[in-house]
Amino acid sequence: MVSPTDERTTSAPAGSPPTGDALDVLRRVFGYDAFRGFQQDVVEHVVSGGDALVLMPTGGGKSLCYQIPALVRDGVAVVVSPLIALMQDQVDALTAVGVRAGFLNSTQDPAQRRRVEAAYLAGELDLLYLAPEGLAVRSTLGLLERGRIALFAIDEAHCVSQWGHDFRPDYLNLSMLHERWPDVPRIALTATATRATRTEIATRLRLTEARHFVASFDRPNIQYRIVPKREPRRQLLSLLRDEHPGDAGIVYCLSRASVEKTAEFLVANGIPALPYHAGLDATTRATNQQRFLREDGLVMVATIAFGMGIDKPDVRFVAHLDLPKSVEGYYQETGRAGRDGLPSTAWLAYGLQDVVQQRKMIETSEGDLAHRRNLAAHLDAMLALCETVRCRRAQLLEYFGETGVAACGNCDTCLDPPESWDGTVAAQKLLSTVYRLDRERNQRFGAGHSIDILLGKHTDKIDQHGHDSLSTFGIGAELRETEWRGVVRQLLAEGLLAVEGDYGTLALTEASADVLGRRRTVTLRKEPERPAAGRSAKPRGAATVVADLSPAAAPVFERLRAWRAATAKEQGVPAYVIFHDATLRQIAAEPPASLAELSRVSGVGENKLAKYGDAILAVLTES
Ligand code: ADP
Ligand code: ZN
Repeated sequence: MVSPTDERTTSAPAGSPPTGDALDVLRRVFGYDAFRGFQQDVVEHVVSGGDALVLMPTGGGKSLCYQIPALVRDGVAVVVSPLIALMQDQVDALTAVGVRAGFLNSTQDPAQRRRVEAAYLAGELDLLYLAPEGLAVRSTLGLLERGRIALFAIDEAHCVSQWGHDFRPDYLNLSMLHERWPDVPRIALTATATRATRTEIATRLRLTEARHFVASFDRPNIQYRIVPKREPRRQLLSLLRDEHPGDAGIVYCLSRASVEKTAEFLVANGIPALPYHAGLDATTRATNQQRFLREDGLVMVATIAFGMGIDKPDVRFVAHLDLPKSVEGYYQETGRAGRDGLPSTAWLAYGLQDVVQQRKMIETSEGDLAHRRNLAAHLDAMLALCETVRCRRAQLLEYFGETGVAACGNCDTCLDPPESWDGTVAAQKLLSTVYRLDRERNQRFGAGHSIDILLGKHTDKIDQHGHDSLSTFGIGAELRETEWRGVVRQLLAEGLLAVEGDYGTLALTEASADVLGRRRTVTLRKEPERPAAGRSAKPRGAATVVADLSPAAAPVFERLRAWRAATAKEQGVPAYVIFHDATLRQIAAEPPASLAELSRVSGVGENKLAKYGDAILAVLTES
């Protein structure tokens, strides 16, 4: 599944790799049996002083790639991360396993800073987290120079890409790390998969000698589903009620207004939900994010301003109520589901209006032609994913450059294969309607009007313009309105139709002529009568740590969860910092009878065993 591709074909790292130490740290400190994928290769490479560029999907296990070298190498690992709001949680999670970590950022008062600085200089830290802007400050650089640095880890390294959606100007400055500390190994990590981003990271961070480690970007435990948008909020509500009651998840909306409305709608329907968007003040945003991370079963309704670096492992679903602008964005956002490897859902509702709106936005966007072309190319790839009759996962992975991907059996098109039909005649009818309307120069007619004409409806607008005398009036009665909307949407997606201006007026493209002139046939995807059945079939191939719990284990799991919630609250840390769901599930499924047995459960390291072992055994014996 996961294979390193060593593109630079560097020779083996110098010195004997201290695998023993690394493996020992993995087991003792983190409580895991074995490295995953190529974690071990990365760890060995960095421990022996090599630079690395690591691309792994979200949830792939990037953190250990620098945390373990941080513990094995002498000195302090300096971790650069743009996510100031999450540094406290990252440090808490490390402290919980007994690793000495601290951070320096703008949220601290001088006394807190001084304590961390002193710890750094005294070599009493294993990891020090810094924001990239911190490295532009001379005093911070001076501080770093007076300590001993084990390595630099540059997290979320795609932030260096100016074309990406997360660009942070301060990342460009990070190339100086190499000049100032030429002997300190650097490891850059990202979950953004495209080759272009990878090249950009390597160039801009001057990671020219770095070995590249590129994992498969497959997330087998995530079930991908893209459904026709009808009443999006109602559809969302059924998804949450039928498949994800009580689960934590993220709902993405395009606008702040729809974030607010959707959150209110969910709350009104008994689902605990919080809004998050850039229009909320910083305190509200921080509080909502904290609550989402700390409390069980909250739904975060957000714009894409939310989510980077959120390493909450038990996000069970990511739902999109609007079409993402690119496959890269979609994959990043959906990737926030199921980091713990348990079955999760990525659900997107998509309709004609989305295509019209996004095409319009590109059409009227500022920026030069090259920029608009770039936006359009990204949208086209996203639309192709939405309209495909193939396996969604195969299409996604191929987009990211993987080859020979088999149909997955765990996406909507695999579980419920869509039918296709010959839509050539329908397309011709629609296009000739648009052609006729197009001749009325000053008028603006959207998709709805063309469909009304085809269906032969006598609306005010049709009567007013005398459009019942057009030759295409009433010639489309063989399709229902939703089917016509599907035709328009798919023609737009394929570039056989365009939208113009602020009103979303339909217009012909060069390619339309081929359809009208019968030089090209059009195959369309059938619009389902009702929404696909979803998880009626159990997701297969899920990297589920523990399958669904038995009737005996379920109440035990709930008791463990209640204990964890109380403990987390007491300590002011997110629940997953205590133990992950996967660990609690395993304990519930095969209750250990002693501390020794408990220590063999994945995720129970020395520190947590000492701290919580007795409490867990007590929860297991109470009934
Ligand atoms: P990423 O940063 O790549 O998104 P993380 O580093 O947060 O992923 O790891 C994802 C999850 O997998 C975490 O819950 C982590 O504890 C777990 N994990 C990572 N490596 C291992 C391993 N070797 N064995 C078991 N669990 C692991
Ligand atoms: Zn599939």
